[in-house]
Amino acid sequence: MLTETDFVKVTFTKSISRLDQSPPNRMPEVAFAGRSNVGKSSLLNAIFQRKNLVKTSSTPGKTQLINYFNIADKFYCVDLPGYGFARIPKAQKGNWKQMIETYITKNDNLKKVYVLIDSRRDLMQNDSEMISWLDYINVDYSIVLSKTDKLSKNEKMLSLKKYKAHFIEKEIIPFSIKNEQYIKNLKKCIIRDIG
Ligand code: GDP
Repeated sequence: MLTETDFVKVTFTKSISRLDQSPPNRMPEVAFAGRSNVGKSSLLNAIFQRKNLVKTSSTPGKTQLINYFNIADKFYCVDLPGYGFARIPKAQKGNWKQMIETYITKNDNLKKVYVLIDSRRDLMQNDSEMISWLDYINVDYSIVLSKTDKLSKNEKMLSLKKYKAHFIEKEIIPFSIKNEQYIKNLKKCIIRDIG
């Protein structure tokens, strides 16, 4: 049985650039995707209750790899490379796309993709592309609205409303690293999705 306290039993497993390098012990996986700077590493560190286990996309020298984190030997949280990073050369962007596409399409262990969107912003082109593609290949995903603490109560409500209207039938999960209730709720969602 998976519990919320399992999340602190996290270990970094490995970084991969090809699916054939994925860890040998097969376990269910959930993956996290989003534009660079959306708050993906902060979210993962928050649910793991660690300060710096997951390196942010602004870390100098951080390469565009898929990072596996083992949670209590029960499942993996997979950190996908952030998209929309202007400094990445075009050729590397192609690699990135291929890497993520193979990871997602050929992965029977993948239970859910959490797509992070900054709650303060409108949907950007690369968010839409990612989401349309997930729809097209029929992979289950939820939307996580990050950094909600940066909005007023009213703005937060409007942002949630806007995204709920945009993604009818999809789960919209508000999130902030500063909100214990949201952190707890996200863990619950993950536990449910791992099943
Ligand atoms: P990544 O590139 O998606 O991994 O994004 P990071 O986790 O590095 O976050 C980018 C910036 O946003 C950093 O300065 C974080 O401190 C900040 N940040 C991330 N999540 C939150 C949040 O929930 N609230 C606030 N106020 N800032 C956040």
